[in-house]
Amino acid sequence: MIPVSKPYLPSLEEYSKFLKIIWENNQLTNNGPLVRRLENEITEYLNVDKVYYVTNGTTALQLAIKALGLTKEIITTPFSFVATTTSIIWESCTPVFVDIESNTFCINADLIESAITEKTEAILATHVFGYPCDVIKIQKIAEKYGLKVIYDGAHAFGSIINGKSLLSYGDISTVSFHATKLFHTIEGGAVIVNREESIVNELSLLRSFGNVGDNHISPGVNGKNSEFHAAMGLCNLPILNHIIEKRKHLSKFYDANIKGFFQLPKPLYEFEYNYAYYPMILKCESELLHVKAKLEEHGILARRYFYPSLNKISYLNNKLTLKVSEDIASRILCLPLFHQIENEELERIVSIVNKINQKRVEKI
Ligand SMILES: *Cc1c(COP(=O)(O)O)cnc(C)c1O
Repeated sequence: MIPVSKPYLPSLEEYSKFLKIIWENNQLTNNGPLVRRLENEITEYLNVDKVYYVTNGTTALQLAIKALGLTKEIITTPFSFVATTTSIIWESCTPVFVDIESNTFCINADLIESAITEKTEAILATHVFGYPCDVIKIQKIAEKYGLKVIYDGAHAFGSIINGKSLLSYGDISTVSFHATKLFHTIEGGAVIVNREESIVNELSLLRSFGNVGDNHISPGVNGKNSEFHAAMGLCNLPILNHIIEKRKHLSKFYDANIKGFFQLPKPLYEFEYNYAYYPMILKCESELLHVKAKLEEHGILARRYFYPSLNKISYLNNKLTLKVSEDIASRILCLPLFHQIENEELERIVSIVNKINQKRVEKI
């Protein structure tokens, strides 16, 4: 079986070096030395102000919403991983969906203003697959209406725009370091605070039960991550640029060799891509199901990602129709893309996709 993604693993020897440090320190968690070191290294790598390493990307989103004190409506995207929406609901806010833009699959900034009501407090948008949202337009709208901006940058680690990390945009950006993501710490995530200095102390409190010793300041959660997770990050971060380079090479191989009956995302701005995913848009859902099934017959797992469009999730009882998001969600397929994929495997994937395409052309 060729999975859609395989976590990058450093050598056992490399990881063991950090295990030795953990054993020497005899501190396993609670903001230990490796966690602090990883936070520093990430801050430096991203060239941002403040990074909070947390248990996962979902907790990062929840902490961001909580720290900004949001309680009402949050304008958000229907085309994302479900955690983007559930974090809003978990924090007792209301998600207000705005349709996406058909080239980047990110929220359509031109539609945001008409969704603003008296209750709107923030915009929470996802940099889908590591492609930038219209950060300039969104910032302008936020300033005009006094809204906060949170970016779900779960996919955006390593994407660079105007010489700056994509995660340096918004009041807060969050990121996931889950095993399936480009840069991972097994489980993990971070809150990156770009503008709201007043919440900087609040975040470290919220991440750790809301108390300092016997002084209980506000109700917090346990969002701390462990030394073992940080160790994985400290192994993977130094070679991240190499990982991105390899993924770029793999993506270019797909670009050059798959004979086109599909559409790829088109970025809004020139930027340096992190090659987090290889999504392709097929003509229609039945074609997608056909391609997916054919690949599976050959032991290749492609993933419908994201699917369904989040406004369609049953427990939301959302009556909106969001044409672009629903359309893209119905025919998008992510091809396998991971560091260790073999050339022979890539060639097999390409040849199967091309064969389906050829049959399709012959039928027309
Ligand atoms: C993975 C992901 C998350 C959640 O991150 P976890 O670390 O798995 O909690 C949130 N948003 C998006 C867009 C994601 O892809």
